[in-house]
Amino acid sequence: MYNFEYVRAASLREAENIGGDAVLMAGGMTLIPTIKLRLASPSQVVDLGGIKDLVGIKVAGGTVSVGAMTTHAAVASDKAVAKAIPALAHLADTIGDPAVRNRGTIGGSIANNDPAADYPAAVLGLGATIKTNKREIAADNFFTGLFETALVEGEIITQVSFPTPSKAGYSKFPNPASRYAIVGVMVAKTKDGVRVAVTGAGGCVFRVPEMEQALVSKWSPESVASISVSPTDLNSDIHASAEYRAHLVTVMAKRAVAAAR
Ligand SMILES: Cc1cc2nc3c(=O)[nH]c(=O)nc-3n(C[C@H](O)[C@H](O)[C@H](O)COP(=O)(O)OP(=O)(O)OC[C@H]3O[C@@H](n4cnc5c(N)ncnc54)[C@H](O)[C@@H]3O)c2cc1C
Repeated sequence: MYNFEYVRAASLREAENIGGDAVLMAGGMTLIPTIKLRLASPSQVVDLGGIKDLVGIKVAGGTVSVGAMTTHAAVASDKAVAKAIPALAHLADTIGDPAVRNRGTIGGSIANNDPAADYPAAVLGLGATIKTNKREIAADNFFTGLFETALVEGEIITQVSFPTPSKAGYSKFPNPASRYAIVGVMVAKTKDGVRVAVTGAGGCVFRVPEMEQALVSKWSPESVASISVSPTDLNSDIHASAEYRAHLVTVMAKRAVAAAR
């Protein structure tokens, strides 16, 4: 680890004033190992942990709004979330282990956009809106590639708003060690239509329009059972081949539809 200056921001305004090669820190679950491994060498780390406005969950007016610094454990155990969008609470509860869930945050997770992370599937599958210190970004425009997002320099996620769906389900085939998704699928029936979002399988979370159309015609696990995605652009590594991941997309989609509430 190289030396860096640690700053604990007391307000969003203070955090916004970071410059140069400074980086934001949420729970540090990804950032600290990255710095320890010398994959990053920022001169300044700005901790968002002291900004109270970024923490908390509001469920009102058909929307579940989660502050960027809200931990996975808080989302998983929130009774109002469990009632409004049980699939979201379930997804948060499947992330990592208790230590990861108590430090990791929704803002850090989606800013990082790990191809195997769970939250990108929830954000894209539920058609959420990402609020930052500068603007609002629709989920469809947020995740742009492997560890890439639409965030620009100095942009800080403040909140993620999920419209309450009439039904949603999440199913993942976890890596048995880390619990990251080998493949995870979120399905949702929203007021704007059906959405199916897949994480873990490719370089970035993606939707499956063919499954969405089939579920519009009939909301049933059988509707997606014969639909498969091409393995051509899927990930292939020591954990699973592209062909196996393609197979898992169909299986997880079926399970997610069956589990949808
Ligand atoms: C052992 C282990 C197992 C895990 N298993 C899973 C799993 O099963 N599923 C899963 O989804 N994830 C998993 N994770 C990831 C974890 O859940 C965290 O979400 C992830 O590591 C990000 O952590 P963090 O919130 O502490 O963000 P940090 O590590 O602090 O930050 C990550 C990145 O986001 C940026 N950032 C943070 N907050 C903001 C913000 N508000 N605005 C803009 N940029 C911001 C930082 O600058 C940094 O680039 C695992 C992690 C570990 C270490």
